[in-house]
Amino acid sequence: MRNIGYIAIGALVALAVMVARPRTLDTILQSRVLGEAALPRFADGTEKQNRTPEPQDLVKLFPDVVVRQWTPDTPAVAITFDDGPDNTYTPKILDILARHGVRATFFLIGQAAEKHPEVVARIVNEGHAIGNHTYFHSNMSRMAPWQVLLDLRKAQGVFKRLVGQAPAVVRPPYGALDPPAVEAVGREGFKVVLWTIDSLDWWGLPKEQIIKNVVPALKSGAIVLHHSSGGPEEDLTGTLEALPEIVRTLKDQGYRFLTVPEVLDEIARQGKALKRPVSAPVPAPAAPPGPGPGSPAPRSPTPTPTPAPSSPAPAPVPAPAPTPGPTPPEAAAPGPAPSPGVSPGQAPPIA
Ligand SMILES: [Zn+2]
Repeated sequence: MRNIGYIAIGALVALAVMVARPRTLDTILQSRVLGEAALPRFADGTEKQNRTPEPQDLVKLFPDVVVRQWTPDTPAVAITFDDGPDNTYTPKILDILARHGVRATFFLIGQAAEKHPEVVARIVNEGHAIGNHTYFHSNMSRMAPWQVLLDLRKAQGVFKRLVGQAPAVVRPPYGALDPPAVEAVGREGFKVVLWTIDSLDWWGLPKEQIIKNVVPALKSGAIVLHHSSGGPEEDLTGTLEALPEIVRTLKDQGYRFLTVPEVLDEIARQGKALKRPVSAPVPAPAAPPGPGPGSPAPRSPTPTPTPAPSSPAPAPVPAPAPTPGPTPPEAAAPGPAPSPGVSPGQAPPIA
């Protein structure tokens, strides 16, 4: 009888460890034995609760896997949108991009893609690229590597089914990913794509603030982060209003717009194969393809990293903090204030 009691206590302790500290079991459970039941589902809270300064520079640790910016041959940027698709903002963003003839990359949540297959099809049909933003918008830094892979594979399955594509690029929700997970993701054949400039639009910022966060920091080789969807309380009107102006500014300055897979191709063509830290100063680009006389030249990357104008600026004014409820992915909610901008060449805040 006593033995049974000990066994029961042991089983309970093992269960508690499994739930609370999944990584401690990682060396034992390098399998999918727990199946999808072991994946956390939207349990990781809001952007603000999750963003913490990046403890390690993942680009330096994993130069073959992690990309934050690149060194284009001629001035170029990559515009990216996280957290879609939805039926509210994503189609409007697609309209704006179509009107301006610009292609971008959408890091999609698998679960959301299942809900809006027609929007995913539209993204692909209109020439944009898709990336994997996990199935559950999970915080990978709190997951064991096997859980991370399980989640990413589940999302890959959705994308394959919907549009016949399994994207090779991953953006971790909240930008949160730790070295063991990067290693696992890299072994799986993914590249991890972070960003150079954060529009901070997930705060529900007005157009002016979003423009202020992005435009002064623009430089060749920048990967710009926006959102194309949010939770019920997340208002991305500012993104819709700011986007045309950001695109116009970039066009006036002669920038090309690359999708993230095109960025990776360009890096591969340059023979750099992500070998050197992409945060290193970039050489002066060739002449831009076509800014007219009088129009400002593209911001040449300078030998010294340009401090982001938004860095010392006051923090963006967040929308009035909504009551925390069932947390939408990356919705504005109370939490520690984020840093206002991202210095190119400097580690952006983990998102
Ligand atoms: Zn996200």
